[in-house]
Amino acid sequence: MATHKLLLLPGDGIGTEIMASARQVIAWFDARLGAGTFALEEDVVGGAAYDAHGKAISEAAMDKAMATDAVLFGAVGGPKWDGVPYDARPEAGLLRLRKDLALFANLRPAICYPALADASSLKREIVEGLDILIVRELTGGVYFGEPKEIRDLGNGQKRGIDTQVYDTYEIERIVRVACDLARTRGKKVTSSEKRNVMKSGVLWNEVATRVGRDEYPDITLDHMLADNCGMQLVRWPKQFDVIVCDNLFGDMLSDIAAMLTGSLGMLPSASLGAPDTRTGRRKAMYEPVHGSAPDIAGTGAANPIAMIASFGMALRYSFGLVAEADLLDKAIAAALETGARTRDIGGGGATLVGTDGMTAAILKALDELSA
Ligand code: NAD
Repeated sequence: MATHKLLLLPGDGIGTEIMASARQVIAWFDARLGAGTFALEEDVVGGAAYDAHGKAISEAAMDKAMATDAVLFGAVGGPKWDGVPYDARPEAGLLRLRKDLALFANLRPAICYPALADASSLKREIVEGLDILIVRELTGGVYFGEPKEIRDLGNGQKRGIDTQVYDTYEIERIVRVACDLARTRGKKVTSSEKRNVMKSGVLWNEVATRVGRDEYPDITLDHMLADNCGMQLVRWPKQFDVIVCDNLFGDMLSDIAAMLTGSLGMLPSASLGAPDTRTGRRKAMYEPVHGSAPDIAGTGAANPIAMIASFGMALRYSFGLVAEADLLDKAIAAALETGARTRDIGGGGATLVGTDGMTAAILKALDELSA
């Protein structure tokens, strides 16, 4: 069995608490697969790195991130660092990682565990068993295009300008990520843009069509205008498998999809870069969608599921351990079936547990499911 290198960056606030949970789950899989399957390194990031080094991530930590197979990131930030210089603010560590690792593809799964179907704002039959994946282009489009400015028109008026721009290669590589992922799932990709009103949408549609037709004949690739896609996500989300879209629409559609499933504490994510020319392995970072939750940090109440499920995504997408990733997903579902709930997903009839209790329930389910 190959050794998988994993860099743990817990960060601040509940980041350290939920990373402790992830560490227990990693140890469980290490024991199952053979001790030494995972080679762990650890470093500080965010406010913790500012306290230690005066910057949001040290060069030594960046070197480790560049050399590892996958980064597992907790969360950064908190009121303690509100006054630090802009370039050293905790979030700068996260942005530096995304930029230097060139993570252009952001993956946000929306999975609705049956035990939590009633926590969604939609009806149970619409969300129960939902398992979709939004693939968002992360480094291009209107958030980065030039010109980007507020221009003084000299007549008492100003003009705000953002530029939506995509080159062929940017569309090709993100569509390939979506199609590669679809091959491991339901073999269906929905490409979403606004070709009816945007030139970048026309090009997006053309390129996506060509990549799908020429390189992925086994994948069903269809197209949906982004506004309709938002509507369809709330009307009948189970029609989708993988959705691929640009940075702006992806920002919106992934947040809509997130709310189908309930709490912020349940949402993992992954960001992937280009495949290494030698090993074929992509640079990758896995992290919960939520932040450092200063309001509950130190109380032991944080939900560790987004963090643990982020490790599950690393198993699936970086290490190719698909059976193990499926097992972990089943264990999370089984732990929820027992009625164990952290406060953020608590409801009538639930057994309220803290971070440790939820982690223990997941480890117990792993034991039972693999017995
Ligand atoms: P947040 O996601 O930290 O918290 C929002 C709310 O959700 C809070 O009430 C919190 O208690 C709750 N929550 C979040 N995760 C939870 C979990 N796992 N279990 C239970 N409850 C959970 O967002 P915020 O309060 O806007 O930001 C707090 C800090 O985190 C800020 O410094 C912000 O800049 C930072 N932040 C960091 C990241 C990141 O590291 N990726 C992302 C978002 C915000």
